[in-house]
Amino acid sequence: MNDRHSPIDLHCHSTYSDGLLPPEQVVAGAAAQGVTTLALTDHDTVYGLPAAATAAEKAGITLIPGVEISVTWNGSSVHIVGLGVDPSAPELTVGLAGIQSERAERAHEIVRKLVKAGVAEAENWLTRQAPTSCTRMHFARFLTETGYALSPAQAFKRFLGRGRPAYVGGSWTSLAQAVDWIRLAGGAAVVAHPGRYDFSASRLRQLLEEFASLGGHAIEVAYGGCDRGQINQLCALANRFNLAGSLGSDFHDPALPWTRFGQLLKLPETVRPVWLTDPLAGLISA
Ligand code: AMP
Ligand code: MN
Ligand code: MN
Ligand code: MN
Repeated sequence: MNDRHSPIDLHCHSTYSDGLLPPEQVVAGAAAQGVTTLALTDHDTVYGLPAAATAAEKAGITLIPGVEISVTWNGSSVHIVGLGVDPSAPELTVGLAGIQSERAERAHEIVRKLVKAGVAEAENWLTRQAPTSCTRMHFARFLTETGYALSPAQAFKRFLGRGRPAYVGGSWTSLAQAVDWIRLAGGAAVVAHPGRYDFSASRLRQLLEEFASLGGHAIEVAYGGCDRGQINQLCALANRFNLAGSLGSDFHDPALPWTRFGQLLKLPETVRPVWLTDPLAGLISA
Protein backbone atom coordinates (compact mmCIF):
# COMPACT_ATOMS: atom_id res chain seq x y z
CA MET A 1 0.00 0.00 0.00
CA ASN A 2 1.30 3.51 -0.80
CA ASP A 3 -0.03 6.83 0.49
CA ARG A 4 -2.67 7.08 -2.25
CA HIS A 5 -4.34 4.02 -0.79
CA SER A 6 -6.76 3.89 2.11
CA PRO A 7 -5.89 2.00 5.30
CA ILE A 8 -9.65 1.92 5.98
CA ASP A 9 -11.81 -0.75 4.33
CA LEU A 10 -15.48 -0.85 5.34
CA HIS A 11 -16.93 -3.70 3.24
CA CYS A 12 -15.86 -7.34 2.93
CA HIS A 13 -17.15 -10.92 3.15
CA SER A 14 -16.23 -14.16 4.90
CA THR A 15 -17.45 -17.77 4.73
CA TYR A 16 -20.39 -16.70 6.91
CA SER A 17 -21.87 -15.50 3.60
CA ASP A 18 -20.30 -15.76 0.13
CA GLY A 19 -16.66 -14.99 0.93
CA LEU A 20 -14.11 -17.75 0.40
CA LEU A 21 -12.08 -17.20 3.59
CA PRO A 22 -13.12 -17.59 7.24
CA PRO A 23 -13.21 -14.32 9.26
CA GLU A 24 -9.81 -15.03 10.88
CA GLN A 25 -8.12 -15.21 7.47
CA VAL A 26 -10.02 -12.21 6.12
CA VAL A 27 -8.80 -10.08 9.03
CA ALA A 28 -5.23 -11.40 8.87
CA GLY A 29 -5.14 -10.90 5.08
CA ALA A 30 -6.40 -7.32 5.36
CA ALA A 31 -3.89 -6.50 8.12
CA ALA A 32 -1.06 -7.98 6.03
CA GLN A 33 -1.98 -5.58 3.20
CA GLY A 34 -1.82 -2.53 5.47
CA VAL A 35 -5.50 -2.21 6.40
CA THR A 36 -5.77 -0.78 9.94
CA THR A 37 -9.57 -0.49 10.16
CA LEU A 38 -11.79 -3.17 8.69
CA ALA A 39 -15.55 -3.74 8.68
CA LEU A 40 -16.76 -7.30 8.10
CA THR A 41 -20.09 -6.96 6.27
CA ASP A 42 -21.44 -10.40 5.41
CA HIS A 43 -24.73 -10.65 3.50
CA ASP A 44 -27.64 -10.60 5.97
CA THR A 45 -25.72 -12.10 8.90
CA VAL A 46 -23.64 -10.93 11.85
CA TYR A 47 -22.52 -14.39 12.92
CA GLY A 48 -18.94 -13.97 11.67
CA LEU A 49 -18.30 -10.91 13.84
CA PRO A 50 -17.10 -12.55 17.09
CA ALA A 51 -14.35 -14.50 15.30
CA ALA A 52 -13.40 -11.39 13.32
CA ALA A 53 -13.18 -9.31 16.51
CA THR A 54 -10.85 -11.83 18.16
CA ALA A 55 -8.65 -11.95 15.06
CA ALA A 56 -8.55 -8.14 14.83
CA GLU A 57 -7.37 -7.88 18.41
CA LYS A 58 -4.61 -10.36 17.66
CA ALA A 59 -3.58 -8.48 14.50
CA GLY A 60 -3.73 -5.09 16.25
CA ILE A 61 -6.31 -3.58 13.89
CA THR A 62 -9.74 -2.05 14.50
CA LEU A 63 -12.76 -4.17 13.59
CA ILE A 64 -16.01 -2.34 12.84
CA PRO A 65 -18.99 -4.68 13.26
CA GLY A 66 -20.98 -4.59 10.05
CA VAL A 67 -23.57 -6.28 7.85
CA GLU A 68 -24.74 -5.95 4.22
CA ILE A 69 -28.54 -6.09 4.11
CA SER A 70 -30.40 -7.23 0.98
CA VAL A 71 -33.23 -4.86 0.07
CA THR A 72 -35.86 -4.96 -2.66
CA TRP A 73 -36.43 -1.43 -3.88
CA ASN A 74 -38.93 -0.83 -6.69
CA GLY A 75 -38.36 -4.36 -7.97
CA SER A 76 -34.55 -4.26 -7.87
CA SER A 77 -32.07 -5.66 -5.35
CA VAL A 78 -30.14 -2.96 -3.53
CA HIS A 79 -27.53 -3.54 -0.81
CA ILE A 80 -27.42 -1.45 2.34
CA VAL A 81 -24.33 -1.76 4.53
CA GLY A 82 -24.69 -1.18 8.27
CA LEU A 83 -21.52 -0.02 10.03
CA GLY A 84 -20.91 0.04 13.77
CA VAL A 85 -24.02 -2.02 14.49
CA ASP A 86 -24.70 -3.79 17.78
CA PRO A 87 -25.07 -7.37 16.53
CA SER A 88 -27.36 -8.25 19.42
CA ALA A 89 -29.89 -5.46 18.78
CA PRO A 90 -33.32 -7.17 18.74
CA GLU A 91 -34.79 -5.48 15.62
CA LEU A 92 -31.69 -6.27 13.60
CA THR A 93 -31.53 -9.87 14.86
CA VAL A 94 -35.18 -10.54 14.04
CA GLY A 95 -34.94 -8.75 10.70
CA LEU A 96 -31.89 -10.73 9.58
CA ALA A 97 -33.51 -14.01 10.67
CA GLY A 98 -36.42 -13.15 8.35
CA ILE A 99 -34.06 -12.58 5.40
CA GLN A 100 -32.27 -15.85 6.19
CA SER A 101 -35.50 -17.83 5.91
CA GLU A 102 -36.25 -16.05 2.62
CA ARG A 103 -32.72 -16.99 1.42
CA ALA A 104 -33.27 -20.65 2.39
CA GLU A 105 -36.61 -20.80 0.53
CA ARG A 106 -35.17 -19.07 -2.49
CA ALA A 107 -32.26 -21.56 -2.58
CA HIS A 108 -34.81 -24.37 -3.05
CA GLU A 109 -36.50 -22.40 -5.81
CA ILE A 110 -33.13 -21.94 -7.56
CA VAL A 111 -32.49 -25.69 -7.23
CA ARG A 112 -35.86 -26.48 -8.83
CA LYS A 113 -34.98 -24.25 -11.76
CA LEU A 114 -31.46 -25.65 -12.09
CA VAL A 115 -32.77 -29.21 -12.14
CA LYS A 116 -35.24 -28.18 -14.84
CA ALA A 117 -32.33 -26.66 -16.77
CA GLY A 118 -30.48 -30.00 -16.63
CA VAL A 119 -28.32 -29.62 -13.51
CA ALA A 120 -29.48 -32.75 -11.70
CA GLU A 121 -26.77 -32.57 -8.99
CA ALA A 122 -28.13 -29.30 -7.60
CA GLU A 123 -30.67 -31.01 -5.32
CA ASN A 124 -28.08 -33.22 -3.72
CA TRP A 125 -25.60 -30.39 -3.29
CA LEU A 126 -28.04 -28.18 -1.40
CA THR A 127 -29.16 -31.04 0.86
CA ARG A 128 -25.59 -32.03 1.66
CA GLN A 129 -24.10 -28.60 2.26
CA ALA A 130 -26.63 -25.80 2.53
CA PRO A 131 -24.45 -22.71 3.11
CA THR A 132 -25.31 -20.19 5.80
CA SER A 133 -26.70 -17.10 4.08
CA CYS A 134 -27.03 -18.96 0.78
CA THR A 135 -26.40 -16.55 -2.12
CA ARG A 136 -26.29 -16.91 -5.89
CA MET A 137 -22.49 -16.80 -5.58
CA HIS A 138 -22.61 -20.17 -3.78
CA PHE A 139 -24.54 -21.60 -6.73
CA ALA A 140 -22.11 -19.96 -9.17
CA ARG A 141 -19.18 -21.74 -7.50
CA PHE A 142 -21.06 -25.05 -7.42
CA LEU A 143 -21.81 -24.74 -11.15
CA THR A 144 -18.13 -24.02 -11.82
CA GLU A 145 -16.90 -26.94 -9.72
CA THR A 146 -19.26 -29.34 -11.47
CA GLY A 147 -18.24 -28.13 -14.92
CA TYR A 148 -21.54 -26.47 -15.92
CA ALA A 149 -19.70 -23.16 -16.18
CA LEU A 150 -16.08 -22.20 -16.72
CA SER A 151 -16.18 -19.50 -14.04
CA PRO A 152 -18.64 -18.00 -11.55
CA ALA A 153 -19.07 -15.03 -13.91
CA GLN A 154 -20.11 -17.45 -16.68
CA ALA A 155 -22.49 -19.23 -14.28
CA PHE A 156 -24.26 -15.88 -13.78
CA LYS A 157 -24.38 -15.31 -17.55
CA ARG A 158 -25.71 -18.81 -18.28
CA PHE A 159 -27.92 -19.66 -15.33
CA LEU A 160 -28.23 -17.24 -12.44
CA GLY A 161 -28.37 -13.71 -13.81
CA ARG A 162 -31.60 -11.80 -14.48
CA GLY A 163 -33.48 -13.37 -17.38
CA ARG A 164 -31.50 -16.64 -17.22
CA PRO A 165 -33.16 -20.06 -16.58
CA ALA A 166 -32.33 -20.34 -12.85
CA TYR A 167 -32.82 -16.68 -11.96
CA VAL A 168 -34.76 -16.03 -8.77
CA GLY A 169 -34.53 -12.37 -7.78
CA GLY A 170 -35.45 -12.86 -4.15
CA SER A 171 -37.88 -10.73 -2.25
CA TRP A 172 -35.95 -8.97 0.47
CA THR A 173 -36.81 -6.32 3.02
CA SER A 174 -37.75 -2.72 2.27
CA LEU A 175 -35.28 0.18 2.18
CA ALA A 176 -37.09 1.80 5.11
CA GLN A 177 -36.80 -1.31 7.26
CA ALA A 178 -33.13 -1.89 6.51
CA VAL A 179 -32.32 1.71 7.46
CA ASP A 180 -34.42 1.38 10.63
CA TRP A 181 -32.78 -1.87 11.76
CA ILE A 182 -29.33 -0.33 11.29
CA ARG A 183 -30.26 2.89 13.10
CA LEU A 184 -31.90 0.97 15.97
CA ALA A 185 -28.69 -1.09 16.27
CA GLY A 186 -26.75 2.18 16.66
CA GLY A 187 -25.09 1.98 13.24
CA ALA A 188 -24.61 4.07 10.12
CA ALA A 189 -26.53 3.05 6.98
CA VAL A 190 -24.59 3.11 3.70
CA VAL A 191 -25.75 2.45 0.12
CA ALA A 192 -23.28 -0.16 -1.18
CA HIS A 193 -21.62 0.13 -4.62
CA PRO A 194 -24.11 2.60 -6.19
CA GLY A 195 -22.64 2.14 -9.66
CA ARG A 196 -23.28 -1.61 -9.80
CA TYR A 197 -27.07 -1.56 -10.00
CA ASP A 198 -27.30 -0.63 -13.68
CA PHE A 199 -29.73 2.14 -12.75
CA SER A 200 -30.26 5.19 -14.93
CA ALA A 201 -28.97 8.43 -13.41
CA SER A 202 -32.49 9.51 -12.47
CA ARG A 203 -33.35 6.17 -10.84
CA LEU A 204 -30.14 6.34 -8.80
CA ARG A 205 -30.99 9.89 -7.71
CA GLN A 206 -34.45 8.69 -6.69
CA LEU A 207 -32.90 5.93 -4.57
CA LEU A 208 -30.51 8.34 -2.86
CA GLU A 209 -33.19 10.92 -2.23
CA GLU A 210 -35.41 8.32 -0.59
CA PHE A 211 -32.47 6.86 1.36
CA ALA A 212 -31.48 10.29 2.69
CA SER A 213 -35.06 11.11 3.70
CA LEU A 214 -35.29 7.80 5.60
CA GLY A 215 -32.26 8.77 7.70
CA GLY A 216 -29.52 6.99 5.73
CA HIS A 217 -26.01 8.24 6.40
CA ALA A 218 -23.66 7.60 3.48
CA ILE A 219 -22.94 6.03 0.11
CA GLU A 220 -19.89 4.07 -0.96
CA VAL A 221 -17.91 6.41 -3.19
CA ALA A 222 -15.00 4.01 -3.70
CA TYR A 223 -15.10 0.25 -4.09
CA GLY A 224 -13.25 -2.49 -5.94
CA GLY A 225 -12.68 -1.45 -9.54
CA CYS A 226 -13.53 2.29 -9.20
CA ASP A 227 -11.19 4.76 -10.87
CA ARG A 228 -10.57 8.36 -9.78
CA GLY A 229 -13.19 9.73 -12.19
CA GLN A 230 -15.96 7.47 -10.89
CA ILE A 231 -14.98 8.27 -7.31
CA ASN A 232 -15.26 12.01 -7.99
CA GLN A 233 -18.69 11.55 -9.61
CA LEU A 234 -19.93 9.53 -6.65
CA CYS A 235 -18.61 12.18 -4.23
CA ALA A 236 -20.61 14.84 -6.09
CA LEU A 237 -23.69 12.63 -5.81
CA ALA A 238 -23.12 12.13 -2.06
CA ASN A 239 -22.82 15.88 -1.54
CA ARG A 240 -25.94 16.56 -3.57
CA PHE A 241 -28.01 14.52 -1.10
CA ASN A 242 -26.01 15.61 1.94
CA LEU A 243 -24.73 12.07 2.47
CA ALA A 244 -21.26 11.14 3.75
CA GLY A 245 -18.80 8.97 1.82
CA SER A 246 -17.73 5.42 2.67
CA LEU A 247 -15.40 3.00 0.94
CA GLY A 248 -14.80 -0.73 0.85
CA SER A 249 -13.15 -3.38 -1.28
CA ASP A 250 -16.15 -5.79 -1.24
CA PHE A 251 -13.52 -8.51 -0.87
CA HIS A 252 -14.88 -12.06 -1.47
CA ASP A 253 -12.05 -14.10 -2.88
CA PRO A 254 -8.27 -13.59 -3.02
CA ALA A 255 -8.31 -14.67 -6.69
CA LEU A 256 -10.47 -11.69 -7.75
CA PRO A 257 -7.92 -8.93 -8.35
CA TRP A 258 -10.35 -5.98 -8.26
CA THR A 259 -11.45 -6.65 -4.70
CA ARG A 260 -8.06 -7.15 -3.06
CA PHE A 261 -7.24 -5.48 0.24
CA GLY A 262 -5.00 -2.43 0.32
CA GLN A 263 -5.84 -1.20 -3.19
CA LEU A 264 -8.66 1.25 -2.47
CA LEU A 265 -7.95 4.86 -3.35
CA LYS A 266 -8.33 7.30 -0.45
CA LEU A 267 -11.49 9.38 -0.11
CA PRO A 268 -11.14 12.78 -1.78
CA GLU A 269 -11.29 15.83 0.51
CA THR A 270 -14.50 16.89 -1.24
CA VAL A 271 -16.64 14.40 0.67
CA ARG A 272 -17.39 14.01 4.40
CA PRO A 273 -15.99 10.63 5.57
CA VAL A 274 -18.62 8.41 7.19
CA TRP A 275 -16.22 7.63 10.06
CA LEU A 276 -16.17 11.29 11.12
CA THR A 277 -19.97 11.37 11.18
CA ASP A 278 -22.31 10.28 13.95
CA PRO A 279 -22.77 7.46 14.92
CA LEU A 280 -19.28 6.28 13.87
CA ALA A 281 -17.29 9.34 14.99
CA GLY A 282 -14.80 8.22 17.61
CA LEU A 283 -14.76 4.56 16.58
CA ILE A 284 -12.02 5.05 13.99
CA SER A 285 -8.89 7.12 14.38
CA ALA A 286 -7.97 8.27 10.87
P1 AMP B 1 -27.76 -12.75 -4.08
O1 AMP B 1 -27.79 -11.71 -2.98
O2 AMP B 1 -28.01 -14.13 -3.55
O3 AMP B 1 -28.61 -12.41 -5.24
O4 AMP B 1 -26.26 -12.85 -4.57
C1 AMP B 1 -25.60 -11.71 -4.88
C2 AMP B 1 -24.10 -11.96 -4.81
O5 AMP B 1 -23.69 -12.64 -5.99
C3 AMP B 1 -23.36 -10.63 -4.83
O6 AMP B 1 -23.06 -10.22 -3.54
C4 AMP B 1 -22.09 -10.96 -5.58
O7 AMP B 1 -21.16 -11.53 -4.68
C5 AMP B 1 -22.52 -12.04 -6.53
N1 AMP B 1 -22.88 -11.58 -7.89
C6 AMP B 1 -24.03 -11.01 -8.29
N2 AMP B 1 -24.03 -10.79 -9.63
C7 AMP B 1 -22.85 -11.26 -10.09
C8 AMP B 1 -22.24 -11.36 -11.38
N3 AMP B 1 -22.86 -10.93 -12.49
N4 AMP B 1 -21.01 -11.91 -11.47
C9 AMP B 1 -20.38 -12.35 -10.37
N5 AMP B 1 -20.91 -12.29 -9.13
C10 AMP B 1 -22.12 -11.75 -8.98
MN1 MN C 1 -21.51 -11.25 -2.35
MN1 MN D 1 -23.27 -6.05 -2.52
MN1 MN E 1 -20.64 -7.05 -0.60
